[in-house]
Amino acid sequence: MALVEAASPHTMNTYGRLPIALSHGQGVRVWDVNGKEYLDALAGIAVNTLGHNHPKLVPALQDQVAKIIHSCNYYHVPDQERLAATLVELAGLTNAFFCSTGLEANEAAIKLARKFGHDKGIARPEIVVYENAFHGRSIATLSATGNEKVQKGFEPLVEGFIRVPLNDMAALKRATEGNPNIVAVFFETIQGEGGINPMRIEYLRQVRQLCDERDWLLMIDEVQCGMGRTGKWFAHQWAGIKPDVMPLAKGLGSGVPVGAVLAGPRAADIFQPGNHGTTFGGNPLAMRAGVETIRIMQEEGLLDNAYRVGGHLKAALERELGGLEGVTDIRGQGLMLGVELARNCSALTARAAEAGLLISVTADNVVRLLPPLIMTELEADEVVARLVPLVKAFLAEGAPA
Ligand SMILES: *Cc1c(COP(=O)(O)O)cnc(C)c1O
Repeated sequence: MALVEAASPHTMNTYGRLPIALSHGQGVRVWDVNGKEYLDALAGIAVNTLGHNHPKLVPALQDQVAKIIHSCNYYHVPDQERLAATLVELAGLTNAFFCSTGLEANEAAIKLARKFGHDKGIARPEIVVYENAFHGRSIATLSATGNEKVQKGFEPLVEGFIRVPLNDMAALKRATEGNPNIVAVFFETIQGEGGINPMRIEYLRQVRQLCDERDWLLMIDEVQCGMGRTGKWFAHQWAGIKPDVMPLAKGLGSGVPVGAVLAGPRAADIFQPGNHGTTFGGNPLAMRAGVETIRIMQEEGLLDNAYRVGGHLKAALERELGGLEGVTDIRGQGLMLGVELARNCSALTARAAEAGLLISVTADNVVRLLPPLIMTELEADEVVARLVPLVKAFLAEGAPA
């Protein structure tokens, strides 16, 4: 008998949940309350950087819980300073603000951009955002998001966003031509929810240059693609550029909610006391999780691992699925990969779980893999062995009538 009811009578009906409840995990494997094992190729949506029950992370968090979980931002939190110093060094930026989630990090970025404008006399600042972007579900971040399904029912949207297509310099110039109110360009280096859509290296460099020429902030949402997932700390680093503002969250605390917005010299002093804040942000438990996550990633060489195992996984997917009728693209970098099919394949999420594999389908037709960064090549082979037959069977069914 199922231990989990399909309906949740007392939680709001915000998710179409699978009838599974996870009980515990070890490395890249998790078990549900019925004892069934799953290979975790989703990592709680790019969150469980170190997998589950990591032998170095768990004792550190236990130690922290026993000392102090939360103080508050009326006082100094030593690990805030430690995590900020580490992050800004890895990013080549200067200052950090801590919060708890991705949308909060993006809210902070939007506020920074608006105040950047106001500080130089622009009363109605506007921010360039992108088609198919995902920045969160608060009213401002859903307005920046490029997906009508996320926005529908919550209008009026926040004004001050101008939307352009990805990787199209001419479109960006056209959309901003002669507009003195532009203050920032805001995008994900690799769109996650939008379907694993990368910005091209050349485009990233051109936008950086345009932002310099026009005195706009370059704001890069690395909430999903950052924290080592592509094989560099932050995905935009493949282009050798630096943003002015960078929101982070998801993988930063390896499961403990931690968000941050990092800023470089042009944005670091915009916020002054009273301009921004949050109760939970930067609390001792969250900061310890961030500090330890990065320390363990460095000790265990997880950037190289993500790059190598991700390359291995992508090559295997290309070998097994590339060129099949109905597979339109295989893309992404490191351990952020997407297999795009020619039609809606949302059904694959449940079928994969049935077969002992946790994945997600995003943008309706992209199978998304975001495994923990500790995954080995052998485990990646297991992911392929479980996924490929499911995709092939799905393709063989053809489009439903
Ligand atoms: C998940 C995500 C967010 C929102 O993060 P939450 O923690 O769910 O608020 C924002 N931007 C990107 C790119 C994301 O993937």
